[in-house]
Amino acid sequence: MTDKKSLSSEEKHQQRMQKLKDKIDAKVDSATEERGILIVITGNGKGKSTSGFGTVTRAVGHGLTAGVAQFIKGQWDSGERNLLEKNGVTFHVMNTGFTWNTQDKSKDIAAATAVWAEAKKMLADDSIDLVLLDELTYMLSYKYLDLDDVLDAITNRPVNQHVVVTGRACHRSLLDIADTISEVQPTRHAFNAGIKAQKGIDW
Ligand code: ATP
Ligand code: MG
Repeated sequence: MTDKKSLSSEEKHQQRMQKLKDKIDAKVDSATEERGILIVITGNGKGKSTSGFGTVTRAVGHGLTAGVAQFIKGQWDSGERNLLEKNGVTFHVMNTGFTWNTQDKSKDIAAATAVWAEAKKMLADDSIDLVLLDELTYMLSYKYLDLDDVLDAITNRPVNQHVVVTGRACHRSLLDIADTISEVQPTRHAFNAGIKAQKGIDW
C-alpha cells in the first residue's frame, strides 16, 4: 500500500481525477432517457440569444432540422439568419421593430400573434427536431400572448422535439416545465463603458 504522505503531487492529481471520472461515469451511466428537452436561457447578461443560436448551429451541423421564431426584431439584419437560412433553417420574425420603439401596442400584439401562429405549427411538426423561440419571454411579460396557449403548445409538442426559449425574466410557469435552465448574469458589459453594439458580436 502506498503511504499517503509519500504521494507525489502528480499521483495525488491522478487520484483526484480518477475519483472525478468515476463520479461522472456513474452519472453518465444513470442518464439513460432520450427525449426532447425544454431549455430556458434567461437573466440580464449577454449571451442568451447567442446560446440559442449556438444550439441551432450545433443541431444543424449534425443534420437535424431546426426552426426559429423571433419575437423581437432588431433594427439590423441578423448574422444568424443570413447564415442559417442558407442551411435550411426556417425563420419567422416579427415585422415590427423593438417594441419600445414602435409604441403601438395593438400592432405589436398582431405581430406577436402572427409569429406565434407559425411557432405553434413548428411545435406540432415532428419533422422539426429543434425549435428556437428567441425573446419569447417578453411576449408573456407584456401579456401579448396567452400563457396557457404557450404552455400547452410546448408541453404537447412531439416527444423528441427540443425547444430553446430565450429572454429576460422568464415566467415562473415556463421555468416550471423546463428541463434545463441557465441564468446569464451581467458581470460586466462593454456597452456600459460606452462601446456601441457591433456587427457580428451583438447582432
Ligand atoms: P446576445 O444576442 O448578444 O446573446 P442576449 O440575447 O443575451 O444577447 P438581449 O437582452 O436579447 O441579450 O439583448 C440584445 C442586445 O442587447 C444584444 O446586442 C446584446 O449585446 C445587448 N445586451 C445584452 N445584455 C446586455 C447588458 N447587460 N447591457 C447592455 N447590453 C446588453
Ligand atoms: Mg436576445
